[in-house]
Amino acid sequence: MTNTSFNIVLLKGDGIGVDVSEAAFAVIEAARTRIGGFELVVKELAAGAAYFQESGRDLEPGAEDAAAGSDAIFLGAIGLPHIRYQDGTEISPHLRMREMFQLYAGVRPVKAYPNAPQRLAASDAAGIDLVVLRESTEGLFYSAAAHGRDTIANDDEVQDILRITRPTTEKLHDFAFKLAAKRKARGGQGHVTCVDKANVFRSMAFFRKIFDERASAFPDIGQGYSYVDAMALDLIRKPWVFDVLVMENMFGDIISDLAGGLVGGMGMAACAEIGDEHGLFQPAHGSAPDIMGLDKANPLAAILSGALMLDYLADRSGIGAPADAATLIEAAVNQGFHDRRLRPMEFGGSQGTRALTSELIDIIADSPVAV
Ligand code: ATP
Repeated sequence: MTNTSFNIVLLKGDGIGVDVSEAAFAVIEAARTRIGGFELVVKELAAGAAYFQESGRDLEPGAEDAAAGSDAIFLGAIGLPHIRYQDGTEISPHLRMREMFQLYAGVRPVKAYPNAPQRLAASDAAGIDLVVLRESTEGLFYSAAAHGRDTIANDDEVQDILRITRPTTEKLHDFAFKLAAKRKARGGQGHVTCVDKANVFRSMAFFRKIFDERASAFPDIGQGYSYVDAMALDLIRKPWVFDVLVMENMFGDIISDLAGGLVGGMGMAACAEIGDEHGLFQPAHGSAPDIMGLDKANPLAAILSGALMLDYLADRSGIGAPADAATLIEAAVNQGFHDRRLRPMEFGGSQGTRALTSELIDIIADSPVAV
């Protein structure tokens, strides 16, 4: 097997971002050595609010170029409550990179693990396994103040623009169908639901029209629609029936938190942000200043984001080994919960960040690997 090397830019950031990034890369390394066939060259660069306070920059000089030239970017978490830019807004080089690299596909897997908290009493809730695919560069966030496109007309009226463009929406829906096909190949349902408000907004009718256009190229994948209000209801009533849910930015912002809440807490919320040329991987949680430095953070969101990164590297390179490493990590997390070997403090267990990480590394070492 050829030994392929991937360049990763690592921005650990602030607070628990540092701890969970270290956990993620320790687990990735354990899986990588187990599987073999590829290498990661990790370039760590300073980023975040604490770095801003000491240097006046939110990213180390050269970091954006390094990120642009890398195979993937991994981000821990950025931001500390008392440190702001001069205009009072939060330190967020992440939003800048999302814009710069046009990371339109926000991927948020939502999966119920055995013996992890379930918020729904129904036994079917153990079968929750879906992905929220959130468009992340336009929609109602297009005019967000952070993008400098807010449209304050005067002191009597404020308008925000909800922008849906054909090129981005075509790519987004294609991404959704390909993701469903990939999940189907691994035993998933192979179904995409277009979540919108097409009965009220022309922008949303356009979003759905493009969904229909692209759907015809994926006849093996099931297709359906849901208005976003009905989806909010169904995610409480029967979330286990869904597979891939594709939606506009603001809807995705809300629905992904709702769906994440069904299967535990922020410490399980993995995330990938993918564009045509770049991918950024990070846990969906913040720097959690309330628990920073206490070894209490659940690193699984970061670790599962690392698995998403490995999968992405495999997709982009056509080399299977990183995908095998991703599968190994996901299976180990599942097995660890099943055997009650993973007991994060976030869920009332005894394992802090380091203890949980080393237990998971042991599980990976014990796991059977097909050669
Ligand atoms: P941001 O706006 O950057 O998302 P936030 O303060 O709104 O930041 P988080 O930093 O994600 O949100 O923290 C929200 C709550 O969830 C906090 O109480 C925090 O301790 C908890 N939390 C977040 N991530 C984890 C984790 N990995 N493990 C355990 N608890 C976590």
